[in-house]
Amino acid sequence: MSETGDSIREIRINPIVPTESVLVATARGMRPKKAEEQVERDSRTHVETCPFCRGNEERTPPQIAAFPDGDDWDIRIVPNLYPVLGDDRAQPNIAFGLQQVIDGYGRHEVVIDNPSHGIALHEMREDHLARLFDVYRQRMGELYASDPRLKYVLVFKNFGPAAGASIAHTHSQIIATPVVPENVQNEVQHSREYQRKYNHCVFCSLIDEALTYEATIYDRSSGQVRRKINVGQYVVERGERFVAIKPFASRFEWEIHILPLQHQSDFLKASGEDMADFARVLQCTMARLDKVVGGVQYNFFLHSVPHGSEFDDCDSSYHWHVEICPRTSIPTGFELGSGLFVSTVSPEAAAEALRAADIGDR
Ligand SMILES: [Zn+2]
Ligand SMILES: [Zn+2]
Ligand SMILES: [Zn+2]
Repeated sequence: MSETGDSIREIRINPIVPTESVLVATARGMRPKKAEEQVERDSRTHVETCPFCRGNEERTPPQIAAFPDGDDWDIRIVPNLYPVLGDDRAQPNIAFGLQQVIDGYGRHEVVIDNPSHGIALHEMREDHLARLFDVYRQRMGELYASDPRLKYVLVFKNFGPAAGASIAHTHSQIIATPVVPENVQNEVQHSREYQRKYNHCVFCSLIDEALTYEATIYDRSSGQVRRKINVGQYVVERGERFVAIKPFASRFEWEIHILPLQHQSDFLKASGEDMADFARVLQCTMARLDKVVGGVQYNFFLHSVPHGSEFDDCDSSYHWHVEICPRTSIPTGFELGSGLFVSTVSPEAAAEALRAADIGDR
């Protein structure tokens, strides 16, 4: 980042997955992307016709679990009415020439996050958020235990139409698949290579840098300051056990990752104290995003070490985390065709704005 606040135009390599890069281009007028249209948020608490509101339980497929059990549930898990994967087919995998097919076996479930129809994450109570992530953890454990063919259980949330949410009532989804999704596979593979080379977890290295590292780079011929890096500037929110970071090379302008400060590969091993601190960091981070971006539509994904014997050696190299990706612009053909995402806000400026946001006492 330039000290004088000049525009940036540089390609940044993702330190975890070096095959991924981002073009940070902040020049004034450099707006290759169309802004995502802001939509009025549906902030009603109860909607008579909504299948996810309390009292309408018979409008969803028979429920898998409710917490607490009964009519006064706070969180409810139901099968997805339109699953992308199902357990109704169990054909053997097929290979024919170059065409390899893995049967679309799996589970697709919906977690109704909160009884309040249009509530946003940052408006949910901390203990509710801790409970929600505990419910994810419990259900992930049950799904892994239910079938050894399931290699990965992905928890994610789409919030707002731009993020792909088709039902306005706040909810998240759990998809259990017989394959490890490519994004996770890439992270697993590259962090494993990093571990072999440096005997250290790349995520832990990034956290160490984010918390402590500062450097000044001088121009060798003129002796002038060419670049000042204060990596601490990437920290958005810090708890006792978790940190929210704006990645140095992030695909989305306002993308934030939350990671445990202590190395932990498997989300299933997080403790109750971990969940409580995580909930606080998540709630404050979402409040900052809401303050700065306003009515933010986003996706979040939970990335944890996949299950199966081929991942047994990843305990020291992989580090679970949550990626929050606000959808403020529509990816262009250039981005989709090249895989090179363009960020028109510098990650440093984004982190600074988020840190400076007044979110009151929490
Ligand atoms: Zn509803
Ligand atoms: Zn680590
Ligand atoms: Zn990830």
